[in-house]
Amino acid sequence: LLKPSPPLACTVRDCGLWLEARGPVLACTRGHAYDVARSGYVNLLQPQDRRSLAAGDVKEAVAARSRLLAAGVGRQIVDGFVARAAALRLTDGAVVAELGAGGGDVLGALAAARRISGVGIDLSTSAVARAIRAFPDVTWVVANADRRLPLLDRSVDLVLSLHGRRNPAECARVLTRKGWLLIGVPGRDDLIELRESVQGHGVRHDRSEALTAEHLPWFALVERFSLRATHRLEPDALVDLLRGTYRGARRSLIDRVDALKPLEVTLATDVWLFETAR
Ligand SMILES: [Zn+2]
Repeated sequence: LLKPSPPLACTVRDCGLWLEARGPVLACTRGHAYDVARSGYVNLLQPQDRRSLAAGDVKEAVAARSRLLAAGVGRQIVDGFVARAAALRLTDGAVVAELGAGGGDVLGALAAARRISGVGIDLSTSAVARAIRAFPDVTWVVANADRRLPLLDRSVDLVLSLHGRRNPAECARVLTRKGWLLIGVPGRDDLIELRESVQGHGVRHDRSEALTAEHLPWFALVERFSLRATHRLEPDALVDLLRGTYRGARRSLIDRVDALKPLEVTLATDVWLFETAR
């Protein structure tokens, strides 16, 4: 059921051995086993790594992002991010992992463009279930990307995170000696018009220094660039932006968006490309 032996690692504390497909389960040689869902994804979440999640909100966020992408909103951002990844020198069968893969659009698009072995990780079962329906050629895993990643040491050629989780120490552990890390985070003026409209002010967060600093112990910066787009959006799409962009819908804001008129909105994502520095 799972695709060509991805380098998945057992998530039982202090185990970390390779998980081999054995019929309907994945198991390590110590006998820790994980059921593969009928649809083909595997849940590697340990009880201590669960986080209280409002499952409905997550499902809503995934659906909102999917509606926006289907309408082309955010498409340039995803396409630009995927294009940068596809331009890296990845050999056939290179292992590419995505943290916080959501509905799978980024990794799915890269897998369509390049011959990779993709492993998408998300904490949400509903996101992963959606991803595997859309992109069955990628391995989809439910796990907490803030904890120990369910991947073997030095087994991954490229880690992706677009508006997803970041975990520099773990990325350094799982990446090969010539590995890449491609990260996209909301830029300072991302959704600024929408945030100004619903909050009365828009805080321009600058995450760039903190993000660079948190990676420099393990990585060398290769490149930084921005991806931008503007869209004139109707109120229903504005509600989807709030639902989908900020995890956990902000109900009070969403109520206020309902009173808005169509709005020209900026989407801005800052992208960092790092390589492993050893
Ligand atoms: Zn094990």
